Amino acid sequence: MTDAYSLAPADKTWQDHVILNEFFGPLDPAPRRTPMRELISTLLSHRTTHRDEELAYDRMLEAFGDWDGVLAAPTNALAHAIRTTRWPDTQAPRIQEILRRIKAEQGAFTLDFLADWPLEKGLAWLTDMPGIGLKTASLVLLFNYQKPVLPVDTHVHRVAQRVGMIGPKVSVEKAHQVLLSQLPPDALVLLNFHKHNYWLGQHICFFAKPDCPNCPLKGICNYYLEHYGPATEEALAATPTQWNVARGELQH
Ligand code: SF4
Repeated sequence: MTDAYSLAPADKTWQDHVILNEFFGPLDPAPRRTPMRELISTLLSHRTTHRDEELAYDRMLEAFGDWDGVLAAPTNALAHAIRTTRWPDTQAPRIQEILRRIKAEQGAFTLDFLADWPLEKGLAWLTDMPGIGLKTASLVLLFNYQKPVLPVDTHVHRVAQRVGMIGPKVSVEKAHQVLLSQLPPDALVLLNFHKHNYWLGQHICFFAKPDCPNCPLKGICNYYLEHYGPATEEALAATPTQWNVARGELQH
């Protein structure tokens, strides 16, 4: 069973995709949220739980009605509305600056021009916004406009490093390009890869204590090899073949 541990990084990346597609099930490409919501919610989600991010988003729109209202609101009142996020005093002026720029350039709160823009131009435009990094820009372009980009967050990055898809010194920023170059430029593959590895990091490959015995990647993972030795037939047979929904909700 040691051969799979020595696969080239690109082959491990593909194996990871195949195994997790089976484990979690392939996903529907339909966008889960509107582009504006994806952009602003992802900004609110930095170092914030999913529940608190949603609470902040809902309170913001309840308090100010719509994007025009959010833009016109006193910044300290907006910060109060999004107080369940990690840095409300930093995020409130950022949100208003993003809304101001979109309205000034497009005449409305829409990002749909990104569908027609070349990928690099869209990435550059989004990452020029305050607080919008490569991950957030990639999420919007992949989920809402089916552009072939790969968002990498701390979960995806951790799994990729432990499995051996990327080297131990490859940063989160750099991993966007390295992993993308190892996968086909197919938005559906990239979306599944992102979400599956995100879920694995969230529910099994924990930062402090990864649940390796229950992980479907144990047969290819460098971390597993280092800590447990090559996976035995018994260990592989004991691995769940599919995500058990009773273990928890899958959220993004
Ligand atoms: S085998 Fe362990 S370290 Fe490797 S991906 Fe799975 S949980 Fe993470």
